[in-house]
Amino acid sequence: MPNDRYDRNINYLRISVIDHCNFRCVYCMPLDTSKYVSSAGLLTPEEIERVVRSAADIGFEKVRLTGGEPTLRSDLLDIVERIAKVDGIKDLSMTTNGVLLPRMAKALASAGLNRVNVHIDSLDPQRFAKLMRFGTFSEAWAGLEAAEAAGLTPIKINAVVVRGYNEEDVVDLARLTIDKPWTVRFIELMPLGNNECARLAKDNFVPSSDSMRRIETAIGRLTPVDNQNLADESVNYRLPDAEGIVGFISPVSNPYCGTCNRMRLTADGRFHLCLLNDDELDVRAALRSGKGDAEVREILLNAVRQKPTGHRLHEGISTAQRSMFQIGG
Ligand code: SAM
Ligand code: SF4
Repeated sequence: MPNDRYDRNINYLRISVIDHCNFRCVYCMPLDTSKYVSSAGLLTPEEIERVVRSAADIGFEKVRLTGGEPTLRSDLLDIVERIAKVDGIKDLSMTTNGVLLPRMAKALASAGLNRVNVHIDSLDPQRFAKLMRFGTFSEAWAGLEAAEAAGLTPIKINAVVVRGYNEEDVVDLARLTIDKPWTVRFIELMPLGNNECARLAKDNFVPSSDSMRRIETAIGRLTPVDNQNLADESVNYRLPDAEGIVGFISPVSNPYCGTCNRMRLTADGRFHLCLLNDDELDVRAALRSGKGDAEVREILLNAVRQKPTGHRLHEGISTAQRSMFQIGG
């Protein structure tokens, strides 16, 4: 298992398969985004498989596919099939806005995908549209239902909380967990990149403590869940008599750098060492210049060794130049 210089066990690889998206969430992607990695620049399914094999060889156990919107990748099933067959990978999941799941969920499950996180910021169709801009609530909800029917469980919902847009909606989202065995996780806004989305993220920040207070006032006490997994970025609770779990991901108010177990691979084949730092190591060049698996492993081990810790988000300072859709959330 690879440990980094802060003795963190890095065993989770988040792979961005594409930087395009069919949504334009206000805090993630500017409306006029027009620069993307070219098709030729994206890692191919074969190249992704090679990286995952190398990762598994040195002890990585979990893989998550993300983006941009991973379901926009036309060869996604091929990618999933290849990763699912890699020895040593025990968990293969995907983060998605869900819109294309009604037509893809069954095939993804058959290809070997274990589970999905669906990103839904509000149960109110109008506020959903205001935040996520290009998608509709009913499409995303149909995607969530398709994922559950296909067995891509346990279902997790991700909601980013944004002042002036959806901070009251945490109550209805949390209420879903009373009858459903789902995990609903509220994410604090991070000002990533250098554009209007980062500015909005800075100005419209809501701390998790506010969301917790709102939920407890409206529904009831949030009791911490026993056996929290320390590598889980989410701090988890249960509402009274609830089937599911309410989680809070608080990178700004409660940084979890000390237990971070992640390495990221960008769509253009760079190991991105930390979401809040621009340091990257190019693995695509090695893959495309005929380098062997030993070299790919060495680049990944170097990435693990150089992984930084700490950030200054709590002071309103972000040093990251790339946005979430470009890195892979
Ligand atoms: N398109 C997919 C989706 O939305 O789930 C996958 C990629 S998206 C970049 C992954 C996650 O990043 C989403 O759950 C989204 O809520 C989160 N995200 C995007 N921008 C963010 C920001 N500025 N701060 C916090 N979370 C953000
Ligand atoms: Fe697209 Fe996901 Fe970013 Fe929203 S958060 S714009 S769905 S990549």
